[in-house]
Amino acid sequence: MGNIMQFMDVPRQDPEKHPVEERRIEFREIYKPFDQQSAGSQADRCLACGNPYCEWKCPVHNYIPNWLKLVSEGNITEAAELSHKTNSLPEVCGRVCPQDRLCEGACTLQDCDFGAVTIGSVEKYITDTALAQGWRPDLSEVVATDKKVSIIGAGPAGLGCADILVRNGVKPVVFDKYAEIGGLLTFGIPAFKLEKQVMKTRQEIFEGMGVEFRLNTEIGKDIPFQQLLDEYDAVFLGMGTYAYMKGCFPGEDLPGVYEALPYLISNTNVLLGLSPEADRIDMEHKRVVVLGGGDTAMDCNRTAIRQGADKVICAYRRDEANMPGSKREVKNAREEGVKFLWNRQPIEIVGDGKVEGIKLVTTELGEPDERGRRRPQPIPGTEEILPCDHVIIAFGFQPSPADWFTEFDISTDERGRVVAPEASSFPFQTSNPRVFAGGDMVRGSDLVVTAIFEGRNAAEGILDYLGA
Ligand code: FAD
Ligand code: SF4
Repeated sequence: MGNIMQFMDVPRQDPEKHPVEERRIEFREIYKPFDQQSAGSQADRCLACGNPYCEWKCPVHNYIPNWLKLVSEGNITEAAELSHKTNSLPEVCGRVCPQDRLCEGACTLQDCDFGAVTIGSVEKYITDTALAQGWRPDLSEVVATDKKVSIIGAGPAGLGCADILVRNGVKPVVFDKYAEIGGLLTFGIPAFKLEKQVMKTRQEIFEGMGVEFRLNTEIGKDIPFQQLLDEYDAVFLGMGTYAYMKGCFPGEDLPGVYEALPYLISNTNVLLGLSPEADRIDMEHKRVVVLGGGDTAMDCNRTAIRQGADKVICAYRRDEANMPGSKREVKNAREEGVKFLWNRQPIEIVGDGKVEGIKLVTTELGEPDERGRRRPQPIPGTEEILPCDHVIIAFGFQPSPADWFTEFDISTDERGRVVAPEASSFPFQTSNPRVFAGGDMVRGSDLVVTAIFEGRNAAEGILDYLGA
């Protein structure tokens, strides 16, 4: 079985000395209070550079210096109005955007002693505060048209699309197969990053604006797609990407190996009261290995820690500098006790009837692949076995085109992504003129903020197409 490697010591709290109740971290993030004083002092730091790189790096091009100035003046209502002109879910983006790669990474102050203005925290503060004070989007001037559009998927792309349509007098009806809105915001991203109440509040706001939700309804199963074409003027697809990427190594089917999303969803379903406690995939008292280097892997790491796992190790086949996940998430995971093994590629999950360990080989980075990322090359003779009880596979997702796309002339590319170009007469229109699409199913797995951007821009395309 190769060299037996000692399970790396994770010194969060010694399981021998501390009971699980002490080690378990609550599923609620203990947010540092971010009040008007903190928001104001961050806002005051903005230099209002003549060339606001932060705005350009933000995928929805938020008017960042402008709303920072309003916060600095204590004008939260106007800041919320302005923030909603470019973003449909600002309080969500403020919480989950990888700001270090986007707005804050472009802040002129990022290299100074105090770092970038904490733009995400201020964005979250603006909407949270305005909503708590009773502010709601004002649609009193909107003139209703006789048009209606169906939207498949209540994730960020679908919600972004619904937001723009309803603000332009077009009735959006949003269908989702899940019992709650949000897509991966609700069923993927854990509660310690995005509290479940945030999307419940958003649902009330959208309904107040005139968006209609039909949940627990799968298009193609409960309702045929043809019915949407018959009953609506256009259709927007925001269905995400849900096909798991497999490792294709022996042992992947052993009991004790889990895919990332079912693991995270089982936890969320219990939190939302949709499943009994017995259905939770629980890592309490277990030695856990998470495979992958993206944000999904970090969410699995941090969830396992919160469940009271004895040890959590994250193994990734490239080095830290070349991992796809946010640096902030790695830092958070590390602080919570996750141990990282860089340059390790899994080659087999070993065990007799259940997981007992994972065989890893050390890698070095070779020539760049077709996307410019250096390929990990296994170093012969470096195989080792890491004993563990559970393995969580977080290699990401591939597009999962519906089998009815062909029947309705909705084209996909060689990777299975729906073809819906931004640069066309009607942005995000598919090969079926009455069908538009956006978000992960068009870009491949990406970010909340890019899905919102595409949903909003697809709505503009739909409005032009309908002449609304
Ligand atoms: P989704 O959010 O996947 O929504 C698609 C919706 O369509 C779902 O609700 C689904 O039920 C519905 N649907 C699909 N087919 C049908 C059908 N036939 N009928 C009815 N409904 C249907 N991004 C970040 O920016 N920051 C993060 O911290 C972050 N963390 C992540 C953590 C995890 C674990 C995962 C998996 C992803 C994370 N992402 C993060 C990525 C982000 O969540 C996605 O890029 C984003 O949610 C994509 O939005 P979407 O609207 O395209 O699709
Ligand atoms: Fe930054 Fe994201 Fe907000 Fe844009 S939407 S300002 S990238 S946190």
